Amino acid sequence: MSRLHSENHLVSRVGWLRAAVLGANDGIVSTASLIVGVAAANAAASNVLVAGVAGLVAGAMSMAAGEYVSVSSQSDTEQADLARERGELATQPDFERHELAEIYVKRGVEPTLALQVADQLMAKDALGAHARDELGISEVTTAKPIQAALTSAAAFSVGAAMPLAMVFVSPADWLAATVSVASLLFLAVLGAIGAKAGGANVLRATVRVTFWGALAMALTAGIGAVVGTAI
Ligand SMILES: [Zn+2]
Repeated sequence: MSRLHSENHLVSRVGWLRAAVLGANDGIVSTASLIVGVAAANAAASNVLVAGVAGLVAGAMSMAAGEYVSVSSQSDTEQADLARERGELATQPDFERHELAEIYVKRGVEPTLALQVADQLMAKDALGAHARDELGISEVTTAKPIQAALTSAAAFSVGAAMPLAMVFVSPADWLAATVSVASLLFLAVLGAIGAKAGGANVLRATVRVTFWGALAMALTAGIGAVVGTAI
């Protein structure tokens, strides 16, 4: 039974975890790429550090703003749907009753029983029943913009801090190499944790996240080197 219990919680946990892992992932890839790109242009270590810190702050802000806007508009849509539903429940309750019953019939419930189920659910919480079964809005999906924005910004910052910390510990001549290798390692570990917690295939997730990270760093390193020699 405890196995069933933990599975029940998987979906709600995945929502948060997915956002956190994605944010940290973004933080590692974009900051590491930035650092590697600037380092490849033969910049001094202090300049690399400034670029990295600026990248962390800019990225965290951009994540927060983007997430806030996206989740807000999702929340607006949900609120508008709920308001319309509330109005329909008030003005045409009998139509709504049959509408809900029809949904259960489509899912395989026998018509008379479906109407009984609809009546009993609506007697307790009519809007809740319609929100769940007609609109697909549940507590899990109810959008929380501020929370989402703060989580993303925090996750991005934690991710970005990892390659940034490598700038301090790396010997100056090996900056790009140290940051790249360490960041790919961070990405792999993060990808494995995310996959494990989300119940997904660990190896596939790890390879995928490491591949895209390596590609991003290789591209910015190449561009950094070209720009560095051109100037
Ligand atoms: Zn309805």
